[in-house]
Parts: sequence; C-alpha cells; structure tokens
Amino acid sequence: MQTERYIWALYVTVLGLSFLVFCSNLTLLTSEQEDNNICQKYPKNLVGTIYPNLTDTSYKDMEFRFTWVQTGGHHTPTRCKPRERVAILIPFRNRNNHLRILLNNLHPILYRQQLGYTIYILKQADEKPFNKGKLFNIGYLEAKKDNHTCFVFHDVDLIPENDNILYGCVRSPMHLSRAVNTLNYKLPDKRLLGGVTAWKTKEFEQVNGWSNLFVNWGGEDDDMSYRTIANKLSIFRFRISVARYQMLKHRRTPVNTARHRQLKDSYTRYKIDGLSSLVYQSPRTQRYRLFTMVSIDT
Ligand code: UDP
Ligand code: MN
Repeated sequence: MQTERYIWALYVTVLGLSFLVFCSNLTLLTSEQEDNNICQKYPKNLVGTIYPNLTDTSYKDMEFRFTWVQTGGHHTPTRCKPRERVAILIPFRNRNNHLRILLNNLHPILYRQQLGYTIYILKQADEKPFNKGKLFNIGYLEAKKDNHTCFVFHDVDLIPENDNILYGCVRSPMHLSRAVNTLNYKLPDKRLLGGVTAWKTKEFEQVNGWSNLFVNWGGEDDDMSYRTIANKLSIFRFRISVARYQMLKHRRTPVNTARHRQLKDSYTRYKIDGLSSLVYQSPRTQRYRLFTMVSIDT
C-alpha cells in the first residue's frame, strides 16, 4: 500500500515537472517568435542527405521552378527574419554547364535553409591566367555594398550532398567542403581551406582577404590557410556526414609552378597583399534572374 502511494506521488511529480518544462519551452518559443521572429537555424523542411542532380538543366526551366528567386539571384524569407544575409561568391570562367548544375542544386538548398541570400558569379572577363583570389576579393567588396553579413566562397564544381550543411556563417571561418568524393570523402590535411568556405566580415578583413598574387591552379588556398594560422583563427568544420560534396569532372587548370616559392612568405606577406593592396577597375554588374554577374578584369 505504502509503495503504491509512493509510485503515485512520483508519477504525479514527474508529470507536473514535464508540464512545467513544456510550458516554459512554449513561452520561450512564442517570445522568440514575437520578439524578432528569427528564422530557425535548422528549419523543419531540411531533408538531410540529397542525391545531387547532375543533369544539365536550362536557365529557363530553373527560372520557372525557382519561384522564390528574385532578380539578381536573390531571396529573403518573408515569414521570419533570416539569421544572415549571405553572399555566395562563385569564381567563374568557361564552366557553363557546371554553373547550371550548381545553381539547380544550390538555390533549393539555400531556400530550405531560410537564409537571406544572393548568388554572385565572379566572371574573369579577360584572357589572362585565372586569378581566383583576386576575383574573390573584388567580389567580396562588391557584395559588401549590398549589406551582406556572411560571405561564402564557392567553387563552381562542388555540389552539396546534405542540406544540413549550413551556409549561414554559424562560425567564422568555416570550411564547408570537408569531405569531397574525389578525395574519398577524407580531409588530407587539417589546414586545408579550399573548395567552399564561409567567412564573416571581421575575420575575413583581419586576414586581409585572399592573396592577389596566385594565378592558375594551386597555392591560393594554402596561402589562406597560413593567413588563418598567422592570425590564430581556428577553422571550424561540420561533421563528415554533413560536409559532403560531389565534385563535377573537368580538365585541370594549368599549374601555378611558382606556388611553392610564393608560399614561403605567406605568414608575413598577408599584411600587404590582399584587400588592402587591391588595384582594379570597377567591374560590370548585371542582374539576371538566377544570379548577379560581376564581370571582372583582373
Ligand atoms: N575556375 C573556373 N574556370 C577556370 C578555372 C577555375 O571557373 O578555368 C573556378 C571554378 O569555380 C573552379 C575553381 O575556380 O571550381 C577552382 O578551380 P579548379 O576546379 O580547376 O581547381 P580544383 O579545386 O579542382 O583543384
Ligand atoms: Mn575543381
């Protein structure tokens, strides 16, 4: 009899406590929604694993399907206040099919993540050797004029395989493309900082942006990694199951044979080579429906 009463008392207490916790959660939830109605970090409509669609799709078809996208490749959620205004910066020259495939996969992910976002294509307009760092720096300064708070530097050939890979600078700097299929989904080096990275203004300007000196293939991402080390910045990454990407096939860009020599003074050179030393003509900006095209002479 005694034990039975005991069990009852315990039962009632547990029930009461759960009710209290439930109520306080409810209050928290409504007060957050009422105060500023901030979008959720992990909205319910995220699906997790995605099988990227690698078939080429026409712009017309995408424009028809991506109803939320406004001119310039822009979107802002209307039902809640987005956590960040993200600029997606994509260096580009002669990879048209990759660009269409990336846009076809990326727009829906960014939409589901409830971010305010704009996609910028940083097109190298001249025939000089490809200079990804310089495109990124100029693209950053152009995008900054549109009041973005988070900047994602994104190779055109990397397609996410999971939509829990948050594009909204939850930390800075972040390395998003940690696990790429062509590298057997393994990170060869902890310092690696290529592919897809996300930065907030403060840290990006602290390292003086990217180097302007690396042309052709290789070195600029290692140089960036040295900049983070010189500034004692940690690189954040999501877990491997989430930070998965597929790389589209392409021919190799000519190699930058000077890269090893250039990397020797990265630790100190960063102060005088980057955003601070950028010399450039104002780029031409065209707002298409699915992206803003920034044509740059390097
Ligand atoms: N890129 C480009 N055209 C080029 C070379 C490079 O558009 O001729 C851009 C593109 O966004 C690409 C990125 O620069 O994803 C990195 O170059 P690449 O893919 O050749 O290097 P990887 O990362 O595969 O070693
Ligand atoms: Mn590539």
